[in-house]
Amino acid sequence: MLKKAALFVLTAAVAAFAPLGGADAPRPGQLRDYPGDYGAMIAICSDIDGSTPAEFEKAHRFLNTLEPTENGPGLGLDVADSFWMFNFSDIGAVSDHLSGGDNEVMSYFWQDGVVKHAAAITKYYHCGWIDTIHSYGDFSMADPTRTPFTAELARRSLDAMREAGISPSVWTNHGNKSNAQNIRGSRRSALAYQKGGDPSSEYYHADAALAAGIRFIWFSDPGGRFGSKTPLYAVTLEDGARVWGFRRYTGSSTPLGHKYSWSVYNLHKQLSRARLDGLVSARRAVVVAQHLGGGADPWPFPAEAMDALRLLADYQRRGLILVARTSRLLEYIRVRDYLEYTYSSESGSEIIDVISVNDPVIGASAPQAEQLRGITFYAQSPARAAVRINGADVPERLLQRGADTVGFKWHDPDYTDYTKPG
Ligand SMILES: [Zn+2]
Repeated sequence: MLKKAALFVLTAAVAAFAPLGGADAPRPGQLRDYPGDYGAMIAICSDIDGSTPAEFEKAHRFLNTLEPTENGPGLGLDVADSFWMFNFSDIGAVSDHLSGGDNEVMSYFWQDGVVKHAAAITKYYHCGWIDTIHSYGDFSMADPTRTPFTAELARRSLDAMREAGISPSVWTNHGNKSNAQNIRGSRRSALAYQKGGDPSSEYYHADAALAAGIRFIWFSDPGGRFGSKTPLYAVTLEDGARVWGFRRYTGSSTPLGHKYSWSVYNLHKQLSRARLDGLVSARRAVVVAQHLGGGADPWPFPAEAMDALRLLADYQRRGLILVARTSRLLEYIRVRDYLEYTYSSESGSEIIDVISVNDPVIGASAPQAEQLRGITFYAQSPARAAVRINGADVPERLLQRGADTVGFKWHDPDYTDYTKPG
């Protein structure tokens, strides 16, 4: 039996973010802010607007793999993109250097429901290069008082996704006033056209979207702050459902309004050395909004953007910033901040027992090892500390032991070139 005095129950809200060093050095049993030895986290969260399948593949081959490309070796970063099921836009935006129009942009179906890029979207979802639904589609019309969106299109989207095994946890939405499918968080009067969460509207679908697995939503809100302890905040939708909202860094807030920098032509401003250093020194996490395939040049990234991405890859290589796809970053922080566990130490033998993810928004759950990836504790004798989930020993292959920490391994890197057939 454990002595009562040696056992304490910790919740992450009090355990994390104690200052490091000196008298405030981390205590054994305390939860680390970030996985392993990392001091900060970044997700690049890319909207699919303007991205053709060819642009998508060039961008992610450079970002995610280590393969040679026309602009040097790939960077091996865990960056995921988003998808659309439908594309109805008649605005006539140019999508690529071949002067492809709106209908060249990657989407699962043509407007009539005949499959278009379904195979590519399914493949890239299952390999992890897509993890976010950018609402059901692009419904932006030249006449914004019209919308082609219907609740029937939402139903058909969710049916097709279920059949393809596509169940993203992350939803992002924006666009002009034709996009009635969008779900509102706050700013409800400013975003009155967004009807997806309004149960009195013919466009309501949020109950089905949440039932299909959506748990993190970006609600069209501009974000001018590069990093915080958590991008998550609790939201009650108009139908009473509770869900996590998350903040994205979209640009700078100026006296003249918000200046969006979420195009590849401004990516170097988003990921400047000063911003990355600030993130590390403040031990913050940030979700950076982008449109990685949104350019109209033969190669997706301008030279400055590639320099910035190489710099980011260097910060990861040096153990400073962990780059993670949006769904992984958000889930890590959700689990970290609501983790309930016990730490006990008796005669030098330490036991960490994970009990629950006490999520106040989507409910408490018994943790699975998969969900705990990256969760890291300080320990006195990390080589010997026992790690358990509700009393059951965690297999050693799932653990990572450092100089003063023990915890769950982060996801293994995957540099596979999924653009290759087969
Ligand atoms: Zn977008």
